[in-house]
Amino acid sequence: MAENWSIYVDWNPWHGCTKISPGCRYCYVYRQDEMYGSEIASSQCRKTAAFDLPLKRRRDKSWKIPSGKVVFTCFTSDFLLKDADDWRPECWRMMRLRSDLYFYFFTKRIDRLQECLPPDWGDGYPNVLIGCTVENQQMADYRLPIFKSLPIRHKSIIVSPLIGPVDISPYLDESIEEVSTGGESGLSARPCDYDWILSLREQCVAHGTPFRFHQTGAHFIKNGRMYNVPRRFQLSQAHKADIDFRIGDYFVPETADTSLWKDSDYHD
Ligand code: SF4
Repeated sequence: MAENWSIYVDWNPWHGCTKISPGCRYCYVYRQDEMYGSEIASSQCRKTAAFDLPLKRRRDKSWKIPSGKVVFTCFTSDFLLKDADDWRPECWRMMRLRSDLYFYFFTKRIDRLQECLPPDWGDGYPNVLIGCTVENQQMADYRLPIFKSLPIRHKSIIVSPLIGPVDISPYLDESIEEVSTGGESGLSARPCDYDWILSLREQCVAHGTPFRFHQTGAHFIKNGRMYNVPRRFQLSQAHKADIDFRIGDYFVPETADTSLWKDSDYHD
């Protein structure tokens, strides 16, 4: 299992972000910074020491990130944050140079992608996967039409934190390689109703779109009853529901045991 988990690597070239929509209210980055007593405001975006990690080599000259890894990119910020505009071109360059890796980022700022793309993007770099995050119907209806219109080789929709029922069926077709959903974590998390999850699954099944239920969230409603789910069980409980559909049919290698996924892998 641990062996399979090792296909994933984190790369956070910058840290810190500004809140832009309801899903950001209890942002994981802010919660973690508070927990660790960070002296810098979470809203202040700064480059990290790992900025050029994809190009770092070991003493024996081999890459620090070996070929074939899925690199979760910018999960302690938003890759399309305006504050990072000056730094992003270098990241695109690193992604192009490391065409032997798969870079995967989620964004709530898909409306900025077009202006942030590098000149040689074309139909998209083959090794870059982009997840458009939506948390409610309003954000789905705003972001997903934009997402659908953009030249991206590998698209997924991240419906998280799910804070209400969402109908994404108008936006599902063969260009969407995966839909992943989950509830909100944290002490003040808004509840997530299993019926909303099942509805999303039905929408995906109807369109043949791979579907993943990645976490219950902290306050989970099932059959009208509210369950408070400790953080350590939120991923495994979702996994136990065993309602994933066609996961692994598309591009992203799917050999990991998702019960091992860390809090940061789906920051809300
Ligand atoms: S949830 Fe994402 S977009 Fe919102 S503030 Fe946090 S990192 Fe930024």
